Amino acid sequence: MKSICVMGTGYAGLVTGTCLADFGNTVICVDIDEERVAQLQAGQVPIYEPGLQEVLERNARLGRLSFSAELEPAIRSSEIVFICVGTPSLPSGAVDMSFVHAAAESIGGYMDTYKVVVNKSTVPTGTGDRVATIINSKCNHDNFDVVSNPEFLREGSAIDDFMNPDRVVIGASSERAMEAILDIYRPLYKNDVPMVLTDVESAEMIKYASNAFLAAKISFINEIACICEAYGADVTEVARGIGLDDRIGPHNLSAGPGYGGSCFPKDVAALAATAASGGVDVPLIKSIAQTNARQKQEMVKKLRGLVGTFSGKTISVLGLSFKANTDDLRESPAIGLVETLMAEGASIRAYDPASMEHAQRRFPDLICCPDPYDAATGADGLALMTEWNEFRNMDMPRIRELMTQPRLLDCRNLYDPHEMQELGFAYASVGRVELPMGETTPRPSWKSHPLRGLRS
Ligand code: NAD
Repeated sequence: MKSICVMGTGYAGLVTGTCLADFGNTVICVDIDEERVAQLQAGQVPIYEPGLQEVLERNARLGRLSFSAELEPAIRSSEIVFICVGTPSLPSGAVDMSFVHAAAESIGGYMDTYKVVVNKSTVPTGTGDRVATIINSKCNHDNFDVVSNPEFLREGSAIDDFMNPDRVVIGASSERAMEAILDIYRPLYKNDVPMVLTDVESAEMIKYASNAFLAAKISFINEIACICEAYGADVTEVARGIGLDDRIGPHNLSAGPGYGGSCFPKDVAALAATAASGGVDVPLIKSIAQTNARQKQEMVKKLRGLVGTFSGKTISVLGLSFKANTDDLRESPAIGLVETLMAEGASIRAYDPASMEHAQRRFPDLICCPDPYDAATGADGLALMTEWNEFRNMDMPRIRELMTQPRLLDCRNLYDPHEMQELGFAYASVGRVELPMGETTPRPSWKSHPLRGLRS
């Protein structure tokens, strides 16, 4: 069992620290944000992440997990220091490395005995060397190793992703450091989780390449959705048809309003910027973000197509977080839509199961509603933006009655176009046919064929 310091208590750091404590290690999580630390010390989890509160409370109670705003004692008392601070985008798309560099300076300043410094933040290739240089410049000895151990957890299922990952990637330049980190992950490889043991640079690149590939799948299916709309095909059928090919796989093939969140947008931009500073032309990687930006605009166009001008209209927005099971609003397609609607004079009735408080702080004029039905009341149009489970089976006849105009933009393809037509909605979705309102279009007979199977 190791003594571990985790620097940064955001999504990545808090989950990492909590899960490593659950593996039996002694973990101290530190943050420069004193308010956040005080909250954590009082047992309040500052982010919405299913399951996190229970695991955190259990490990804090057992004395294996603690929180502090004092970096020095936390770093000095730990054998292993994880850097989990933010790596946001600069306006150029390159990574703002100031938080990582500041963390490395602190580690260097307080380095006394041998330590393994682990970069878990998503960082460009070459950061391992840079962090080592900064630490060296502060402590004037080389009694440490820098390891890359990128994190692949997804917000909304972060605990499960950490405890049951598809793989663990460790990039190290010394056997001593590799063994120390392997020791931490023993509970996972004992459970047959594949371990990718490699050099630091490759580990750093694996993270960016993974996120760019996943984002590319989303942009790809969104472009296919646009072609489907032009020719009357159904993107959900197409996604199933291609996703059943093992070489492609079914994940990240849901057409929608474009990707968001704290990772894909910045990581795709960072990979393109890294390529550019290495003199490498990457047109495919650059186009991922361009397609995503266009897809967000497409949703605005679709809503305009349903409700006309936004000025003076009341629009209901269901779902504000960038995906279900998180309260994270960063780069959320719903937030972009809210900004456009507000700029054009619409009044917005919004509901999200987890992020209302954040949203209200960001948009004081947003009308925050206690449930989807209240949000739909008096609306001239409703935009369904996030795939929360509670939006999948709403009482749609009731929604229709509550709305002033029954116009529904379903950005997550949660509802059936025929059913919505039968209910009297003007209904638009992504990559599927738009059926004329006020008519009944016969359903294709194959839709109820017993061999059709479940959607993958
Ligand atoms: P975040 O912005 O939510 O949290 C970062 C935290 O680090 C903040 O609380 C900040 O106060 C703290 N911090 C900054 N400088 C510090 C310092 N010197 N010492 C101690 N604390 C400091 O970020 P996040 O979403 O947790 O992401 C962190 C890193 O993990 C990023 O590189 C991100 O790309 C990566 N990552 C994130 C996710 C995710 O789902 N959010 C998943 C995988 C990887």
